[in-house]
Amino acid sequence: MARPDRRRPENVAGDFYVDSTCIDCAACRELAPASFTASGGQSAVFSQPQGPEAQRQALLALTACPTASIGTLRPHPDLAAVRASFPLPVDTGGEVLYCGYHSEKSFGAASYFIPRPDGNLLIDSPREAAPLFASLEKRGGVSAMLLTHGDDVADHAAFHRRFGLTRSIHAGDGRAVPEAEELFQGTDPIAWSPDLTVIPVPGHTRGSCCFLYKERYLFTGDHLAWSARRKHLYAFRDACWYSWKTQVASMERLLDYSFEWVLPGHGSRIQLPAAEMRRSLETCLAWMKER
Ligand code: SF4
Repeated sequence: MARPDRRRPENVAGDFYVDSTCIDCAACRELAPASFTASGGQSAVFSQPQGPEAQRQALLALTACPTASIGTLRPHPDLAAVRASFPLPVDTGGEVLYCGYHSEKSFGAASYFIPRPDGNLLIDSPREAAPLFASLEKRGGVSAMLLTHGDDVADHAAFHRRFGLTRSIHAGDGRAVPEAEELFQGTDPIAWSPDLTVIPVPGHTRGSCCFLYKERYLFTGDHLAWSARRKHLYAFRDACWYSWKTQVASMERLLDYSFEWVLPGHGSRIQLPAAEMRRSLETCLAWMKER
C-alpha cells in the first residue's frame, strides 16, 4: 500500500502520487502515459489525471503496479470496477488480452491471456489477485500457462492451484518451475497447437522462447521489445543473462516468421504491418551486431 509519507518529491501536487518503493518497471507509464513519467530512476506523476478517461487509466496503473507504489489522497469509489476490468484487450479484435496485475517476483513483467475454444491460455504469470481470478473464471478459466522464460514465472503455483492449468517452459529454464507439466526441448520450432508455435530463442536466458499465435501475435518475454526512443525493435543488451551472440542468432531466426504484434514482458509492445515489422526486426539485428 502506497504511503503519503513516502511520496516522492518528483510528483506534482495533487491526488495521485508514486512513493519511494517504486521499482521502475514502467507499467504505469505504459498504461497512463498522460499522468506518469520516468524521473530519477523511478516513476512519478507529472500531471494529475484530467477527466474520466485519464482518471480510469491512472487507476488501472494503480491496480497493475507490482509494488503498490501508487496511491491517492482521496478514495475512488470506481476503483473496484477498474480492478475487475482486467484483463484488457490489446486490440479491437479481443483475441489477446493484457492481464495487468504485474508481479514484483518477475520485476513487473507483463502477462497476457488468450481466450480459445480449445482452452484458454496465460502467457507468463500475472500476480495472484482475487479480482483477476474472478475475471478469468468468468471467461471459462485457464487450461495452460506458457512461460517465455524463467524470470517471469511469478505466481504460477497459485494459478495452477486455482485453475488446474498445466505449465510449460523450456528445459533450459526448467529450474524456475520444477513442477512444470511440460518441458520444451532443443531449438527447433514446436507446433504446440494448430494456432500456436513455440519458437526457442536462447540468449536472454538459456531457455527463452517466443510464442507465435495465429501468425499475428508474437509473445517475446524479455527477448525482444519496442523502443519508443529508438523507434525500432530492440533487445536488452544490459540484461542478457546467457549469451548475446546466441541471442543475435535467435533473433535472426525470427526473420523466418511473419507477425504484426510484438507483446513483450518488459519494454513497450507494438503493432505494425507485417512488412514494416520485418524491416524493424532487420534494423534491430543490425543494431545488435554492433554491440
Ligand atoms: S507501476 Fe509501480 S513499480 Fe512500476 S514504474 Fe510504476 S510506480 Fe513504479
